[in-house]
Amino acid sequence: MQKEILNYFYNYYVKEFFLEIVSPAHCVVCGKKLFDSNFICESCKNKIIFNEYPLISREEVVYYYGMTRYTGVMEELIKKFKFNGYKALSKFLSSIIINFIKTNNIEFDFIGFVPMSKMEFKERGYNQTYLLAKDVSFATQKPIIRSIYKIKETKKQTNLSKNERIQNLKDAFVIKEAIMGNILIIDDVYTTGTTAKEITHAFKKVLKNGNIYFIALSQTFN
Ligand SMILES: [Zn+2]
Repeated sequence: MQKEILNYFYNYYVKEFFLEIVSPAHCVVCGKKLFDSNFICESCKNKIIFNEYPLISREEVVYYYGMTRYTGVMEELIKKFKFNGYKALSKFLSSIIINFIKTNNIEFDFIGFVPMSKMEFKERGYNQTYLLAKDVSFATQKPIIRSIYKIKETKKQTNLSKNERIQNLKDAFVIKEAIMGNILIIDDVYTTGTTAKEITHAFKKVLKNGNIYFIALSQTFN
């Protein structure tokens, strides 16, 4: 009996108190206190919906993948990562990409990301797809292609029709080096595929030999 009381006391007071001191981190989705600094608890993590068929399409040497559904926990994580300054979420989100690459045996030599224009970068202060690319590069020891630029200031894609999106992003990206080998391009959300097609188009222009794997962390379903 005494042991039970002690256990109860430990679980509800000591553990909480201890956690608060050693780990002030909370799950960014549900607010639960955490033992580690991954910013997401196990139960929220388990709510992420992975796509059963992640290959969206293939066009010659270009493969487009969407790993998870852009809804619920994943949507919240990406929004916080992108718009609310939670740059540290990159560690967890990139671990999903790294797992995916390994389980699907995707072989690549270089890593690309979706660049921002000067104005977009000034507004946000960081490029979330570059942060993901950096973590994947660290884990896989493959270099990031840095000479990727967005040379056109574009409107936000969200409220545009499909045709407007295509026109808006047309020739927006440029890569200033020749590449030989397979490229992995990382993005956060695949919506209509306009960004994906435009960036892979820019890569195709400088690719001498190899495949392009465009991998989006999440995919919207309308
Ligand atoms: Zn949680």
